[in-house]
Amino acid sequence: MKAAVFHGPRDIRIEDVPDPEVQPDGIIMKVRDCGICGSDLHPYKLASKKMILGHECSGDIVAVGSNVSHLYEGDRVAAIGIRPCRECYWCRRGQTQNCVTLQWPGSPVLPGAFAEYASIPCLRVGSFDTVVKLPEPMSYEQGATVEPLSIALFSITSAGIQTQDTVVIIGAGMIGLCALLVLKAMGASRVIVSGRRSKRLQLARDNGADVVVDAAQEDLVPIVREVTSGAGADVVLECAGVPATYEQAIRVTRKHGKVVLIGIFEESITWNPNVAVAQNLTLLGCLGEDFPGALDLLSTSRADTDQLITHRVPFDLTRDGFETQLTADDAIKVMVKIA
Ligand SMILES: [Zn+2]
Ligand SMILES: [Zn+2]
Repeated sequence: MKAAVFHGPRDIRIEDVPDPEVQPDGIIMKVRDCGICGSDLHPYKLASKKMILGHECSGDIVAVGSNVSHLYEGDRVAAIGIRPCRECYWCRRGQTQNCVTLQWPGSPVLPGAFAEYASIPCLRVGSFDTVVKLPEPMSYEQGATVEPLSIALFSITSAGIQTQDTVVIIGAGMIGLCALLVLKAMGASRVIVSGRRSKRLQLARDNGADVVVDAAQEDLVPIVREVTSGAGADVVLECAGVPATYEQAIRVTRKHGKVVLIGIFEESITWNPNVAVAQNLTLLGCLGEDFPGALDLLSTSRADTDQLITHRVPFDLTRDGFETQLTADDAIKVMVKIA
């Protein structure tokens, strides 16, 4: 089969690789669509070893492992090909999502879905299944957005956000905008979105953000103070992952508020933890998914991720797709059309 093989920084080549074999606990998916994730851009810029990335995928099942009884050839599915070890402290307690050696697509033993076919473990990881059927008439493209929507949903649920809370979303990329869709679907009354690119800010406005801050022109901190009569936001979703926005997130959160860290940081940060001490802040990580909840939001049209797919590239041009995702001002989600 053909696969998009990463060789090093910004070097992706379409190559022939051996077809994947079906594992007893897994399926083989003929991949239709695979989205480029912000988290894929870090290895794209920095990777030094050969690998096949891709974890936001959908397609058709073409082979089913002998231990899988609930899925069949021909099923249309969305999937995330992660594999826990099943032996560590967390796995033995059934909390496989916390596995200490959880493998993600792109590891040498678990290639991802920027390929014609992908071998995907069918597992229960925490509260969700790694392979889920797409309800009709959900498109494959929507299916490939289940994963980022599911991350946003998991983060919002973990933070216990209430509809009357003032929520600030810092960073209006795919996850930030998915978070806005989730918050508005649940009826959140005051959502402030801060971002830098005009296309993203427009989408934030179009999808009901109550205040939109152009971070290239305006200072978020006094705006949040004014909107909240000086108190600060109840919850801040940090989706940008850079030191300056982390600092902002801390500064705009009210006493006893929560900062949810969603963006992946490429560099370490220096900050004074006394701020968190004095403000009684809670910092939350967010590695988790809610696939069923995301599917429900999409299939009931309460969240529309189609509008976030800004670019589509054919499989042969996967590298161009990565360049677009990395550099184009108007890129939110670049979708690689595998088949
Ligand atoms: Zn992703
Ligand atoms: Zn484990």
